Amino acid sequence: MNEISLNAYGKLNLSLDVVGKKPNGYHLVRMIMQTVDLYDTITIKKQAEQGITLSTNREDLPTNEDNLIFKAAKMLMDEFHITDGVSIHLEKRIPVAAGMAGGSTDCAATLNGINQLFQLGLSKEELMERGVKMGADIPYCVLGGTALSEGIGEVLTPLKDIPDCRLLLIKPNIDVSTKWVYTTLKWDEIKEHPDTDGMIADLEQGNLSGISSKLKNVLEEVTIPEYPVIDDIKKTMRSLGADNALMSGSGPTVFGIFTDSNAGETAYKKCKELYPDYQVEWTSFISRTQIEQQ
Ligand code: ATP
Repeated sequence: MNEISLNAYGKLNLSLDVVGKKPNGYHLVRMIMQTVDLYDTITIKKQAEQGITLSTNREDLPTNEDNLIFKAAKMLMDEFHITDGVSIHLEKRIPVAAGMAGGSTDCAATLNGINQLFQLGLSKEELMERGVKMGADIPYCVLGGTALSEGIGEVLTPLKDIPDCRLLLIKPNIDVSTKWVYTTLKWDEIKEHPDTDGMIADLEQGNLSGISSKLKNVLEEVTIPEYPVIDDIKKTMRSLGADNALMSGSGPTVFGIFTDSNAGETAYKKCKELYPDYQVEWTSFISRTQIEQQ
């Protein structure tokens, strides 16, 4: 094998809670994570010249060690003394700095790709152990699907797949710093926590309306007062027929769940007119099983 191409799926948070803070400043979280059928494509080719070369369709992304793709390839190639070089191309579709773990999922897919291309024989767990050294969300991105994420994000419990439904996703043209959100959040003064256990029970029962009614992200308490457009988009989605809508991660991406897919498609067209400068996507959740079958 001289070349491999992988889909790196984005994630959304169906719920996000902060339940404590470690002395080193890291927050302790309880989040229900879900992969979404919006993905970057990563193509890795062996090359005779040593080293790693990275190219991408997005000019604003780094192509050196600052890119998590580069870091992931280097980590495995150094560990396994790989003397061949690789050229990697990233086709980015997941919105950047948007709360969808775009960089983390690229990192996870690169670990997976290098593992397969050079037949390193690492298990998923072994890839996760290496991934967590580069970011707390990376082990989840290796796992994919529906999962409870605890600790600083690295303690994972796979959950039952969410029932099929369609999603409207909107990334407004604003930059929200994840670091700013977490440092501004007063975790011990959070007004309302999500019902995480209730949502897990709904997932077990395949109760989509229960899941929709429990969408909750405590980081909205920080981002919405500063960036009211996030709340405007949530309200627009609901007024256009979404069962419910929520900001993902530290934002600013907002997603709406539509059990009525006709209403969703109309809402998608309407939102493309309303928000011509924003990234607007009509997509769906994707399960671990569906990803593994690809
Ligand atoms: P999270 O949901 O984990 O907070 P995010 O969606 O907020 O992630 P990313 O899209 O991962 O944020 O990008 C955050 C920053 O990471 C970008 O500004 C970019 O410079 C850097 N970065 C490094 N590697 C990548 C990559 N492969 N894709 C996107 N961003 C990357």
